Amino acid sequence: MATNGNGEPSFRQSVDLMFNRAVSRMNLSPGLEEKIRVCNSTYTVRFGVRLRGKIETFTGYRSVHSEHMEPVKGGIRYALSVNQDEVEALAALMTYKCALVETPFGGSKGGLCIDPRQWDEHELEQITRRFAYELIKRSLIHPAQNVPAPDMGTGEREMAWIADQFARMNTTEINAKACVTGKPPHAGGIQGRVEATGRGVQYALREFFRHPDDMKAARLSGTLEGKRVIVQGLGNVGYHAAKFISEEDGAIITAIIERDGALVDEKGLNVEDVRQWIVKTGSVKGYAGATFVADGARVLENACDILIPAAMEGVVHMGNAANIKAPLIIEAANGPITFGGDEILRKKGTLIIPDMYANAGGVTVSYFEWVKNLSHIRFGRMQRRAEEGRSRILVEELERLSADQGLGWQLAPDFKEKFLQGSDELALVRSGLDDTMRTAYQAIREVWHSRNDVEDLRVAAYIVAISRVATSYQSKGL
Ligand code: GLU
Repeated sequence: MATNGNGEPSFRQSVDLMFNRAVSRMNLSPGLEEKIRVCNSTYTVRFGVRLRGKIETFTGYRSVHSEHMEPVKGGIRYALSVNQDEVEALAALMTYKCALVETPFGGSKGGLCIDPRQWDEHELEQITRRFAYELIKRSLIHPAQNVPAPDMGTGEREMAWIADQFARMNTTEINAKACVTGKPPHAGGIQGRVEATGRGVQYALREFFRHPDDMKAARLSGTLEGKRVIVQGLGNVGYHAAKFISEEDGAIITAIIERDGALVDEKGLNVEDVRQWIVKTGSVKGYAGATFVADGARVLENACDILIPAAMEGVVHMGNAANIKAPLIIEAANGPITFGGDEILRKKGTLIIPDMYANAGGVTVSYFEWVKNLSHIRFGRMQRRAEEGRSRILVEELERLSADQGLGWQLAPDFKEKFLQGSDELALVRSGLDDTMRTAYQAIREVWHSRNDVEDLRVAAYIVAISRVATSYQSKGL
């Protein structure tokens, strides 16, 4: 078995082993298990771009794990560490994630071996357009077949270039904008997509804290208020998750771990301040008002209530899992805990809210964006003012009754303001995301609590996802 260098299975094997744990508890028809597990195809492309006076060759991948539903969906990652094994593992996770949160997509993922910080904006545009050209040519980017999105190292800017490249190559395609999600709002994006994965982590935690039995399994009680949280990775996902739970739910961020060290403050870090510092200086070093720890990985082992790994795969492994003190881990990144690390944590009684659920907020809002692009209208545009009109009638009638009858009722001003406000696109996106995260969690916990052979949330999540994929294959006659 290939290993990741530490004697542990590779990322893709780790995902497969987790899958196997779940299917051994299911009753799938013979052969279907294998069909679902395998990755359908991985396309590798090597292309050249003339940059700085010479031709640079880049290697990129687009992997399609399962086409039980189309289009297939999944981000494009820009990192030097990108490789086929990783892209395939991430594509498989996309299949299960989409099934779990009921977004009507198969699973896919792409990656380009590149350090985006080495290139300026214009160069990155040339590279992105060329990579997109290669994928579009083979329908590996297409509104009905394969719809990428941002992932590590990419964001709105890259998605806008991809959408524009597709439109240039398909001038009469009316649904061209739906070929990619995570676009900026001015280029066909949707409000709330950038914050979506972090927002989803917040909604997942809120849902978890609504269930006293589940909290007990993590030796926790109460609410998110006052919980001590360590966040690893202050990128798009970690930043938004940490910001929302600290500013809106009263959680205390006691440590932030970044690639070049960690900041620790038991009284609580101001997430926005730290983020601004990183944006300004490119590092957590030198941030005043917190203790700097050079060996950031050690801080994963500090005592806290909740650990949020939000950076990349494999950060909790057989070498450090036994030292992790957090009773609850929510996997905001994809695959942050290896199969071996997961075994150790489970034996220790650590509760893990698994990646395929915890970080599904991104693809959920991508789904809303794709629907918006296909319907060619902003959510809320037709009904917002009608909703406000109805609320106003009610408020005015209450005020009239109060005056007529001399009751002296006064509606609180903030009630009036909130009640009279129709839902705009952002409010609708958040409402749809909240509902999705609650419903998916309830489906997972139902399996977790109702079956004696399901000891953790990860197996439960796999069982829910795999049975949905299986049903879909069965209705296709497989
Ligand atoms: N890259 C994100 C993920 O891993 C988002 C995928 C999408 O929106 O399609 O879930």
